[in-house]
Amino acid sequence: MKDSGFLASVDAMYDRAAALMNLPSGLAHQIKTVNSTYKVSFGVRLRDQMFTFTGFRSVHSEHLEPVKGGIRFAPTVNQEEVEALAALMSYKCALVDVPFGGAKGGLLIDPKNWEKSELEKITRKFTQELAKRDLIHPSQNVPAPDMGTGESEMAWIADEYRKLYPTELNALACVTGKPVSKGGIQGRTEATGRGIQYAIREFFRHSDDVKSTGLSGTIEGKTISIQGLGNVGYHAAAFLSQEDGAKITSVIERDGSIVDNKGINIKALHSHMKETGGVSGFNGFTNKSKETLERQCDILIPAALESVINLSNANKIKTKLIVEAANGPITFEADDLLRRKGITIIPDLYANAGGVTVSYFEWVKNLTHMRFGRMQRRETEHRNSLLINSIENITGKKFSKKVRSNITEGPKEIDLVRSGLDDTMREAYIVISSKRKSDPRIIDLRTAAMITALEKITQSYLSSGL
Ligand code: NAD
Repeated sequence: MKDSGFLASVDAMYDRAAALMNLPSGLAHQIKTVNSTYKVSFGVRLRDQMFTFTGFRSVHSEHLEPVKGGIRFAPTVNQEEVEALAALMSYKCALVDVPFGGAKGGLLIDPKNWEKSELEKITRKFTQELAKRDLIHPSQNVPAPDMGTGESEMAWIADEYRKLYPTELNALACVTGKPVSKGGIQGRTEATGRGIQYAIREFFRHSDDVKSTGLSGTIEGKTISIQGLGNVGYHAAAFLSQEDGAKITSVIERDGSIVDNKGINIKALHSHMKETGGVSGFNGFTNKSKETLERQCDILIPAALESVINLSNANKIKTKLIVEAANGPITFEADDLLRRKGITIIPDLYANAGGVTVSYFEWVKNLTHMRFGRMQRRETEHRNSLLINSIENITGKKFSKKVRSNITEGPKEIDLVRSGLDDTMREAYIVISSKRKSDPRIIDLRTAAMITALEKITQSYLSSGL
């Protein structure tokens, strides 16, 4: 048996779910099919010579617009990859009730080979190429960060778009994941990692789900292996260890891995990576990454790239729960094998939806041209103070200063973002967990999540007369 490629894996997971639904004839195929993929090559003059770059922007489904999906900068980017990622975006947005269709972009480049000023020139040119065809547009196509991109690239995209369309009132809404000072929203950078934390917290609130994995209790004390300590992996690892008491016992990176049964200091490792460009030289370093991925742990979090758990290693994975922070980290065949081994998988289309959820909040903020909480915060504080004063008057007792301020304080933007994200992750888990239990043919959380997403996309297609 051979592993399916990334797109074939996503499609096979889709087919498995669609087969359990009574979709109108032909609709399942239409929803699955990628609507369009634009491939562009463009030149940028750098280092006294012309370099040619190739990029993609794929639109999977426009049942809702704008379509949404990150832009990846990596030397491995290819058409199949962006199409698979675009499809996952459609399903993900539908699952967590984010009103966007699915898209994804990629640029074939190794960002490590270029200076920041050069990356800026390349990103601006790529933006021009995409904007020309409305593949960046506040109401049609809104990119975000993904592997190899972050706040800086999003700021350059927004600025270039604003220069191209200076009279466009909503220009800032053409991209999300911007720095807060450039129209971004508090909490977006860490949103996907924060969403992973909220997803795992919600999982542990469902004692029957926890029991069925062979785990018990809460996150506290659980051993975690994490692959990829980039944006998503770092924040997930930091929050789970610092706030919830988990022990990160293995980190697998590009240049090797770190193993420490007492728990790795994630902040220190991250600083080391920033300084040196890798994990090599940190306490507990080993270059046996293949073996590290297969080490015993309670929870395994792949947070790097696709197809890393496949037929070559799935049998050797020793964990109880896999949380897919990366997109498509498990091939279709490995997924089957892991399920037979009794390993529970919290699937990517749910687990890493925190990023697009907070991107949605940012997009809404850009359209309203106002930070969240600006109108309500002081009014809420005033009302809460009145309430506290009344209680103190009636009882004749005083609240401590700390309790008073905890109760009266109105919500800041970051509080509202976290609340909205937590609500989204909790609600979606409740839906997919109960969907899985509603029908014995729904064999896992992935199928349950996919069916939930498909029901909503189908509804959207049918209500628009398609
Ligand atoms: P990133 O570029 O910030 O980090 C990726 C990390 O993985 C880097 O530290 C890199 O060194 C490491 N890595 C690369 N190849 C590796 C390998 N072969 N083995 C081990 N480590 C390796 O990217 P990111 O934004 O954190 O994205 C990671 C994954 O999460 C991707 O699959 C992406 O599609 C997905 N995702 C990201 C977001 C987001 O908001 N950034 C949202 C949803 C999903």
